[in-house]
Amino acid sequence: MFRLDGKVAIVTGGSRGIGRAVAEALAGQGAFVVVNYVRGEEEAKKTVAAIEAKGGKAEAVAFDVSDMAATEAAVADIAKRHGRLDILVANAGIAIDNLVLRVKDDELDRLFAVNVKGSLAAAKAAIKVMMRAKTGRIVFLSSIVGEAGNAGQAGYAATKAALIGVTKTLAKEYASRNITVNAVAPGFIDTDMTTQIPGDMKTAMLQSIPLGRTGRSEEVAAAVTFLSSDESSYVTGEVLRVNGGMLM
Ligand code: NAD
Repeated sequence: MFRLDGKVAIVTGGSRGIGRAVAEALAGQGAFVVVNYVRGEEEAKKTVAAIEAKGGKAEAVAFDVSDMAATEAAVADIAKRHGRLDILVANAGIAIDNLVLRVKDDELDRLFAVNVKGSLAAAKAAIKVMMRAKTGRIVFLSSIVGEAGNAGQAGYAATKAALIGVTKTLAKEYASRNITVNAVAPGFIDTDMTTQIPGDMKTAMLQSIPLGRTGRSEEVAAAVTFLSSDESSYVTGEVLRVNGGMLM
């Protein structure tokens, strides 16, 4: 089940955290994985080395998803070099937290540039290739915050809610081409992104998780792997929550 032999996948922001776990999981199922990074060249190379050490295939490719033209060109080039592109996991994302009264114009611009425009740019380029192949899998990384909101995260929540709208829209636009488009909405996952959350907020969050613990990147990666596989062929426009029951 869930084998991806012969398939080519791109994972944006794949050098660390959830993206790294996704890259390793997809490669573990047999896919050739393109690990995108923007600044973390060393981390991206480590991800590739970890995949290769387990007998998998991967390469690291730098591009900044907030640069739409560069992202579209990079995705097109990857597909051309490999002769195909089967899976896109639009994982790259940033969090800039502030109470709405303190939110700054440039913070919102940056959040939308990376989280929304960056994901759309990668999807747009991937869809062009997938339409010709009449098959494809696109998975966006949304968040529990996009559905439930979270104090101090109005801008971030807006971008993650936007990705749910994007997911459902693209699912409708490209269903006739057999391209499925889904989102995974993680809850509170232990990564570099969540280390920024203050301790008292973390304690309160843990109390609201029925499974009583934070999640692991590998647990998110398992959901992404399912949505990237042939076995999810009748699932599109879905938001798969991986949150320990924090939002049902
Ligand atoms: P992270 O900060 O550890 O990793 C984010 C990755 O995105 C990094 O590799 C970073 O370099 C990359 N990135 C950032 N800006 C980029 C750009 N302009 N171009 C290319 N890459 C860029 O975060 P994470 O916790 O692994 O989160 C991964 C995704 O999951 C994000 O979209 C995040 O919003 C989402 N998410 C995370 C959690 C969580 O609890 N950690 C919860 C819900 C959703």
